[in-house]
Amino acid sequence: GARPLPGKALAASLREGTRAAVEAARKAGSAPKLAVVTATDDESSAWYVRSLVSAAEKSGLLHEVVHLGPKASTEEVRDALRGLGEDGSVHGVILQTPLPPGVDARALAEAVPAAKDVDGANPLSLGRLAAGLAAFAPATAEAVIALLDHYEVPLRGARAVVVGRSTVVGKPLAHLLLARDATVTVCHSRTRDLVEVTREADILIAAAGQPGLVTAEHVRPGAIVIDVGTNPTPDGGLTGDVDPGATRVAGALSPVPGGVGQVTTAVLLAHVVRAAQGTGIGEGLRG
Ligand code: NAD
Repeated sequence: GARPLPGKALAASLREGTRAAVEAARKAGSAPKLAVVTATDDESSAWYVRSLVSAAEKSGLLHEVVHLGPKASTEEVRDALRGLGEDGSVHGVILQTPLPPGVDARALAEAVPAAKDVDGANPLSLGRLAAGLAAFAPATAEAVIALLDHYEVPLRGARAVVVGRSTVVGKPLAHLLLARDATVTVCHSRTRDLVEVTREADILIAAAGQPGLVTAEHVRPGAIVIDVGTNPTPDGGLTGDVDPGATRVAGALSPVPGGVGQVTTAVLLAHVVRAAQGTGIGEGLRG
């Protein structure tokens, strides 16, 4: 069977790094602060915000949640983002989804203050990433790389196949892998012969939001498979995009829950510290 790749130990070590950095920042007289803007009463979003706030507290980060409610307009959300951009005490800004119906999500992503864009939502961040410039990548995409690094999976020259081309996961992940010298293929819902493409992968990343999409047939024997999918199950649990049958073939497989998702929050909080240090968009990514 495939070797499991849990995210717990990595998440704990990232959190410890953040806690130490926050303590050092506080001793030096500054206090890193995360702000989250929400405009929904969606329960899973509320759950995520609570878990983020509790993780921030454990790391000693200051936090502020701006609840605009499910009737907020594009202008109200934009004004809140602008205010946080101008607020010198705030270092990281996250715009929570979903947004109210009729609200212009694209325009608002552009309104997330670029220097505080700790979850890589602003298209400027993705553009910088694509250009090989330093930027905050979306935390989930970076968590995948962090997990691969943690388990010492070599990326240089490796064939990486990403299933999913969303702006939050697939595309930024493809750029992060390119920056690490992987040979990258991106698949999506219109890809012909998905099995043929995914079977080429040394590293296969499933980020489609389709439970069971990746089966044993999609996996080259011995390949490293990272499951980014977080699909709700009827019993209130979570399941990934990778069918359990793939464990027979894969060399290693990250679990859901307990894999990438565990690392994501820890990456996000680490980004807030970097934003507070002003090192978020100063450090070079290779082209
Ligand atoms: P999305 O719906 O925006 O994008 C899905 C992508 O998958 C699209 O590019 C689509 O073309 C592709 N796709 C869909 N069906 C396909 C198929 N049958 N074959 C090939 N490609 C197909 O989703 P997203 O926001 O990128 O999220 C993807 C998954 O990752 C979801 O399950 C989501 O819940 C999860 N996610 C997890 C975390 C985390 O922290 N672990 C964070 C964000 C998203």
